[in-house]
Amino acid sequence: MLTKVLKFGGSSLADAAQFRKAADIIRADSAVRYVVVSAPGRRFDGDEKVTDLLYRCAALAEEGRDIGPTFDDIAARYREIIAQLGLSLSLEAEFDEIRQAVSAGAGKDYTASRGEYLNGRIMAALLGFAFLDAREGIFFDAAGELDTARTYAVLPGLLAGLGKAVVPGFYGADPQGAVRTFSRGGSDITGAIVARAAQVTVYENWTDVSGMLMADPRIVERPRVIETITYRELRELAYMGATVMHDEAIFPVREVGIPINIRNTNAPADPGTWIVAEAADVRQGGSVITGVAGHGGFRAFTIAKDRMNNEIGFGRRVLQVLEDFKISFEHVPSGIDTISVIVAAADIAGRENEIISRIFHETGADSVHLDDALALIAVVGRGMTSTKGTAGRIFRAIAAQDVNIRMIDQGSSENNIIIGVGEADCQTAIRAIYNEFVKEV
Ligand code: ASP
Repeated sequence: MLTKVLKFGGSSLADAAQFRKAADIIRADSAVRYVVVSAPGRRFDGDEKVTDLLYRCAALAEEGRDIGPTFDDIAARYREIIAQLGLSLSLEAEFDEIRQAVSAGAGKDYTASRGEYLNGRIMAALLGFAFLDAREGIFFDAAGELDTARTYAVLPGLLAGLGKAVVPGFYGADPQGAVRTFSRGGSDITGAIVARAAQVTVYENWTDVSGMLMADPRIVERPRVIETITYRELRELAYMGATVMHDEAIFPVREVGIPINIRNTNAPADPGTWIVAEAADVRQGGSVITGVAGHGGFRAFTIAKDRMNNEIGFGRRVLQVLEDFKISFEHVPSGIDTISVIVAAADIAGRENEIISRIFHETGADSVHLDDALALIAVVGRGMTSTKGTAGRIFRAIAAQDVNIRMIDQGSSENNIIIGVGEADCQTAIRAIYNEFVKEV
C-alpha cells in the first residue's frame, strides 16, 4: 500500500494562499500519513523568513535588548495566516509564552524552532490532523548529533498511535529535553526521519521548483529537470553546489531505500525529480549524464620529485602535511614523478607558503608549485564511465570552446568524471558539456 510523508518548505507555507495550496495537495492524496512543515518563508523578494526574524530575536535577547517589535512582526504574520484561513485556532497563549521565554534567554535553538512549531499547529488545525511536537520523538545526543537509536525506538510508536499527523520540522530534543535544531534547512532532515520512522513508501519534499535541474540555471538557459537521480549521484552534484534539499536529508531514507520525490507546490501536476537507490543507466535506456555542476575556489599543489614512484610513503607524507594543517583534500591526481593535491582555496588562504615549506621539508621534493584559481566540474551520470566515448565527448566539447583542461579525474565510482579548468572558463565548460549531452537526450 502506498503511504507518504509530505514535507512543505517555507515558501510553500509563506502565507495563507500557500497554506491552501499545500492543504489541497494533502487532501487530494489518500496516501498521506504525516506532514512535516517548515516555518513561513519569504512572501516576496526582499521579505524576511520567520526563522531569520526569530534568530534576530534570540540575538537581541542575548544582548539584553527588547525583542518586542521584532516579535510583534512574527506574531502578526501568524495571526494573519490564521485569520485568512478562517481558523478558530488561537495561538495567543503560545505567543506570550514564547515571548517570555526568549526574553528570559531561552537561547537561539529554542527561539528558531518556534517558527516550525507554530506553523505545525496551524497546519494541524487546518487539516484536522493530530499534532506531534518533534521534541517528543526526535532526539540529539550530547555531541549534538541525531540520536538514531533513541529516535527510531520512540518515534515510530508515537506516530503509529496518532493516525494522520503534522510534525514540525527543524528541531528535536537534547538529552536534557531542551530544544535543539538541525542546521539551516533542516526540516528536510525531519521529513526524512519521519518517513523512515513510519516506514512509508515515499517521501515527498514540496518546494518551489519542479525538481532538480541538470545544470545551474544561472549558467545554462532553461536547463532540463532531472527525472530520476540516485542518492549517490545526488551526493556528487550536491558536493559541487547543486542542491534542492539539505545535504543530510538523504541519509535516513537512503538506508532503508525510501525514494524521495521533489515536487513543486506551485505546479503540483509536474512530476518533479525522483531520488532513488538504483535507476536505469544508459545501458538500460537512461541518459548518459544526469547533471553537471561545478565551481571555482580550488587550488592545486603540484609536487615533483625524481623517482617519486619508487619512494614508498611519499603520498602519505604529502597528505600528512595537509592533515597537520587540518586541511581536507579533494582529489589527488598523480604521475610517475609528480603528485597533485587539490584543495579548497579558502582552506589554505594565508598559509600557502607555510604549507609549501612543510611539504619540501617532509618530502625532500624537487619542486612544489601552487596553481592559481582552479574550478572543478563534476559530470555525473549512471554507468557513465563504462560507456565508450563519454570522456571523449566531454573533452571534445570543452576543446571546441577553446578551453584548456587542467586536470581530469575519472575516479573510482561509475558516477562521475571530474574536470579541472581555469576559474574563468568554468561556466563556458559547463555549458559545453550540457549542450553536448542534452541535445540527444
Ligand atoms: N526554517 C528553517 C530555516 O529557514 C528550517 C527549514 O525550513 O528547513 O532554515
